[in-house]
Amino acid sequence: MTDDAFQALTVETLPRRLGAVAAVAEKVGGAPQGWKVREVGDGNLNLVFIVEGETGSLVIKQALPYVRLVGDSWPLPLKRSFFEYHALTRQEARAPGAVPKVFHFDEAQALIAMEYLSPHIILRRALIQGQELPRIARDLGLFMARTLFRGSDLCMKARERKADLALFADNVELCDITENLVFTDPYFGAPMNRHTPQLDPLVAELRADRDLRVEAQRMKHLFAANAETLVHGDLHTGSVMVTAQDTRVIDPEFAFYGPMAFDVGMLLANFWMAFFAQRGHETGGSRAGMRAYLLNVIEETWRVFREEFSALWRTERTGMLYHRSLYEEQNDTLGAEQALGHVLHGVWEDMLGFAGVEIHRRILGLAHNADFEDIEDVALRAQCEAAALRFGRHIAVNRRHVTSLGEINQLAQLLD
Ligand code: ADP
Ligand code: MG
Ligand code: MG
Ligand code: MG
Repeated sequence: MTDDAFQALTVETLPRRLGAVAAVAEKVGGAPQGWKVREVGDGNLNLVFIVEGETGSLVIKQALPYVRLVGDSWPLPLKRSFFEYHALTRQEARAPGAVPKVFHFDEAQALIAMEYLSPHIILRRALIQGQELPRIARDLGLFMARTLFRGSDLCMKARERKADLALFADNVELCDITENLVFTDPYFGAPMNRHTPQLDPLVAELRADRDLRVEAQRMKHLFAANAETLVHGDLHTGSVMVTAQDTRVIDPEFAFYGPMAFDVGMLLANFWMAFFAQRGHETGGSRAGMRAYLLNVIEETWRVFREEFSALWRTERTGMLYHRSLYEEQNDTLGAEQALGHVLHGVWEDMLGFAGVEIHRRILGLAHNADFEDIEDVALRAQCEAAALRFGRHIAVNRRHVTSLGEINQLAQLLD
């Protein structure tokens, strides 16, 4: 199959085409003609099939040469599957157990065979339903600290990191999507934008807001120019699958070398949006408990991230930056701690900027999220979105002048 020209799989052709791949056939078991195949992709870009057989199951994710959400008028290269595969292997090495296991990769067919996560559901769905998952803050805080620290010059050998930087530098088209859809389009009347009509006056106000427009471009500058570590690149609550006992991060096709704070900011932004959307999901009863839970998740995720990052700083700082010869080896532990404080403070300020912009693009840009979209009462949805937009503007523009998540979450409650 590897030598064939690319062909999109279908439910009908999948057993014949993948039955010949030993790693897949062994995992699923039984005669391929008997496999049960379903296409379940709900994302914006790719095909996702669940394959079940006599002894096992797996997921086949295949890229298409265009954006699924838009159609073949918007071409997008198949090589994003290559970056997803390489990101998954690095994430597994750096944060063991945090991503689905990979069984097979076919570059020409742009497909990855991976572990079928079941009975996991998408975290965004769970939060919309009002489920309080007990593990997500800890698991995602650890995932971010481990992948972001261990993919950087704080930890890696310079030669290895530079080789990886070169490998992922070719993920140009997916970075371009983020550069335009996240950082630019929301701040002017770009053709693919849309927003809830009741927001018109607020949208006009935000698009005329010079401080916000400058700050958003500073975040874009950082995104494009600060190749600090291998970031996931699309770490929202739709890229996390959960049960009460397990948390897995999926879908790293946007992976590239960028700023640590990008992943952290995007994830926390999606928790804040889940918070602001709760008022729209109260038909089955009050969501006061869920709102308190979400603010707690935000604080705990950040705390766990800081603690794990600090622990890795003290024990795994094996890269060229802040070399131990300058600190610990001269008995200057305090110097190392001082430098750690500077690095974490930088992540903090930038995280808030990225979070603010992520909130804006989900309400003003092309790719909206179900947290708000599922609110049927349009006026109520607009109220939730307006609070989130104001919050996003505040944290992005004032990111250097806020000191704690407690303070920010208090503001979220005031606006909500
Ligand atoms: P896209 O890049 O198109 O967004 P995703 O990787 O996010 O694709 O997958 C789309 C959907 O397919 C997910 O929302 C999830 O429902 C399902 N899915 C993806 N990977 C798995 C997996 N390993 N196990 C179970 N379901 C999965
Ligand atoms: Mg996805
Ligand atoms: Mg998705
Ligand atoms: Mg994706």
